[in-house]
Amino acid sequence: MKQYDFPPYRPPNEADSCLIRFTRGCPWNKCQFCMMYKRVKFEIRGVDEILEDIQNAPSIFGRDIKSVFIGDSDSLLMKTDTLVTLLKKIREVFPNLDRVTSYARIKTLKAKGQDNLKKLFDAGLTRVHIGLESGSDKVLELINKGSKAKHFIQTAPMIHKSGLQFSLYVLLAVGGKEYSHIHSSETAEVINQSNPDFVRFRTIIPIPGSGIDKMFTSGELTYLSDKDIIAEQLNIIRNIQAKTYIANDHISNLVSIEGEIPQKKDYFLNILQKAYDSFGDKSRDKEKLLRYL
Ligand code: SF4
Repeated sequence: MKQYDFPPYRPPNEADSCLIRFTRGCPWNKCQFCMMYKRVKFEIRGVDEILEDIQNAPSIFGRDIKSVFIGDSDSLLMKTDTLVTLLKKIREVFPNLDRVTSYARIKTLKAKGQDNLKKLFDAGLTRVHIGLESGSDKVLELINKGSKAKHFIQTAPMIHKSGLQFSLYVLLAVGGKEYSHIHSSETAEVINQSNPDFVRFRTIIPIPGSGIDKMFTSGELTYLSDKDIIAEQLNIIRNIQAKTYIANDHISNLVSIEGEIPQKKDYFLNILQKAYDSFGDKSRDKEKLLRYL
């Protein structure tokens, strides 16, 4: 068998998924906090190569797996017809899947449009993982995300109508002390206006060499204390009116919470408030955090 091409990253909740790489790297690759694909030149893999990996996947992951994750960061920018062919092949090789998911950039989904998203859903894609990071345009500009809050709000109805679920990622503390308030309140607002099926939180870990690390070390941004990070998440969750599933399912977070809101909203607020009351004014040891990455 030719060497199988494993995607280097996947969401934590895809730990048991079969991993299939459609593209390599990130076509944007400019977010100030992200070093994931800095050394990878973006490319779309050849269809025959991908089909061969799909065919060989059961010998690596077993035939009874329940989920497939497609890498790398923005594979849905491939032509819709090609994606449909590949998704159908995945469903043929693994007939018992509960879900097939992929990372995607919001602008790629917007450009695809509802009809093409529906074609992808009909071919077997079930969920997209999208980095919102912040609902504040000021913060999005600061981190050079290449998208604005309105892109999420405008595209969300297309995603919902296509049948796809969507999982939004929020990056706590990314705006430092300076933007913490607008980051939290405007993030809650985008969540309320886009109704994601999942909201998954991560906390910024400034990686040496990244743009955000330079902002923190130069003093342009002030790193939040543990208490302030909790206050930020408290403010986001307090202001979410949408029905969604919250998950702090990443090692970077200070507190572990997971479940549906509004059902568990008071419970989450209670846990976060207790954490807030118990934390001092210290920030976490960044050296230790980097070991988790
Ligand atoms: S966060 Fe996502 S879009 Fe931004 S550079 Fe990293 S992989 Fe690309």
